[in-house]
Amino acid sequence: MRIELRVCKHCFEGEHENEHKTAVTRDLVACARVVREYKDLIDLDDVHVRMVSEDEGDDGRPAALPAVAATIQNEQVVVSDTQLITMGENGYMLVYPNPQDALKVLAGNIDEISKVLDEEVSPELSPESAEILAGGPDGAVEEDADMYP
Ligand SMILES: [Zn+2]
Repeated sequence: MRIELRVCKHCFEGEHENEHKTAVTRDLVACARVVREYKDLIDLDDVHVRMVSEDEGDDGRPAALPAVAATIQNEQVVVSDTQLITMGENGYMLVYPNPQDALKVLAGNIDEISKVLDEEVSPELSPESAEILAGGPDGAVEEDADMYP
């Protein structure tokens, strides 16, 4: 399987003033880098991290897996800056256009790696991402008092 994570470079660097998105974007990248480091352990062929920038000279092209999610906003095509794409041996591509789902897929890979290694390799995650992985803000999470001092 091959994986490509696509994120907004400006969110990653905190320039888009969306703290929640910045936290999750950084975690997505941190998770993808761990998965890339250990990819051979879980039979991944390739892991790409593509940071999309608004600078001139970045045409938004994917790094390896040629699919980009888009939405229509005000009758304009808006290309998604955050997505995860996987391509399996069968040649099918799966596009995960929600950061939440992308995070869950990467966290699943990290769990697998941790099992193979018999060692926890997950990066330190933000409270925002921890909440997503715990099932979202709908009360499914038992609040840890230490997390919100
Ligand atoms: Zn951004």
